[in-house]
Amino acid sequence: MIPVTKPFLPPLHDYQHLLEGVWQREWLTNMGPLASQLEMELKTYLKLKHLLYVTNGTVALQMAIKALKLQGEIITTPFSFVATTSSIVWEGCQPVFVDIDKDSLNIDPHQIEEAITPNTSAILATHVYGNPCDVEAIQRIADKHQLKVIYDAAHAFGVEVNGKSIFEYGDISTCSLHATKLYHSVEGGLVVTKDPELLKELTSIRNFGIAGHDAFSTLGINGKNSEFHAAMGIANLKYIDEIKAKRTALSQHYEERLQHLKAVRPLWHSNSENNGAYFPMVFESEELMLKCKEKLQMAEIGTRRYFYPSLASALPYLDPVAMPITDDISRRVLCLPLYYSLSFEEVDLICRLILRVQNNDN
Ligand SMILES: *Cc1c(COP(=O)(O)O)cnc(C)c1O
Repeated sequence: MIPVTKPFLPPLHDYQHLLEGVWQREWLTNMGPLASQLEMELKTYLKLKHLLYVTNGTVALQMAIKALKLQGEIITTPFSFVATTSSIVWEGCQPVFVDIDKDSLNIDPHQIEEAITPNTSAILATHVYGNPCDVEAIQRIADKHQLKVIYDAAHAFGVEVNGKSIFEYGDISTCSLHATKLYHSVEGGLVVTKDPELLKELTSIRNFGIAGHDAFSTLGINGKNSEFHAAMGIANLKYIDEIKAKRTALSQHYEERLQHLKAVRPLWHSNSENNGAYFPMVFESEELMLKCKEKLQMAEIGTRRYFYPSLASALPYLDPVAMPITDDISRRVLCLPLYYSLSFEEVDLICRLILRVQNNDN
């Protein structure tokens, strides 16, 4: 069996070694030494001045919306994981969908301005599959209309654009360190901002809004993460370059083998590299995609329809809105298996099965 993804696990000894310290200190959570160590190591690795390690990528988004005191409408993408939209609704705001660019599969900046109303407070965009949004165009629009910008950078760990971390863009960027992501701490998330005031607010929000003994400064939540999660983050960070290199090599192998497949890859940002978080392909037709998916399924090979259906039409708590490009792309896109322990021979097998489907078609 080949699943669509498998979490990376560090050598058990690395993790156990970190846990021995936890047993000695008997300090299990509430920003313990391992959580602080992980934040320091991540700042160094990502070349960032500030970041906060939090519970997960969904709470990270909710904290971002709360800290920016957003109200009313938030412009967002229908082509993402459900948490991008649900966190807007959860925070009492209204998502306003803007369709994606058909090549990059990120929110189309050309269509953002038409969606702005007097009630718009922010833009929340996803760097889909780790492919950076057109951050400059989005910032220009935000500045012109005095909107805040949040990036859901859940897929974009380690991505740089113009030589700096993608997490530096927007008022706040968030990341997910869930077990299925490129880099993980079992569950976990990051909140990044360059603004010292916002950082203070976010730090307080993460800890119930507590401002010291017997005092509260803001409406908070439990956004902290535990020493056990931080230990996994620290153990995994040692291997991140190896993980990325293997995934990149596997992606190139797929691309070579699938050159003649009637399918395209997302068009990547010209000043950024693919971090190998996912291997999506947009097939020529939904029919061909479904046939390939079924063929792989019969061989016990997993795939995922990331992201289908469109968030603008699938959520029972929102009125459905047609998004022509998202509706079309989401029907045809399929993510193929990609993970550290996947072998080149397995990629060969997957590609052979897919090409066989296409060739039988002709
Ligand atoms: C995974 C993911 C999230 C949610 O992250 P969790 O850590 O699972 O809460 C949010 N947005 C996107 C785009 C994701 O892929």
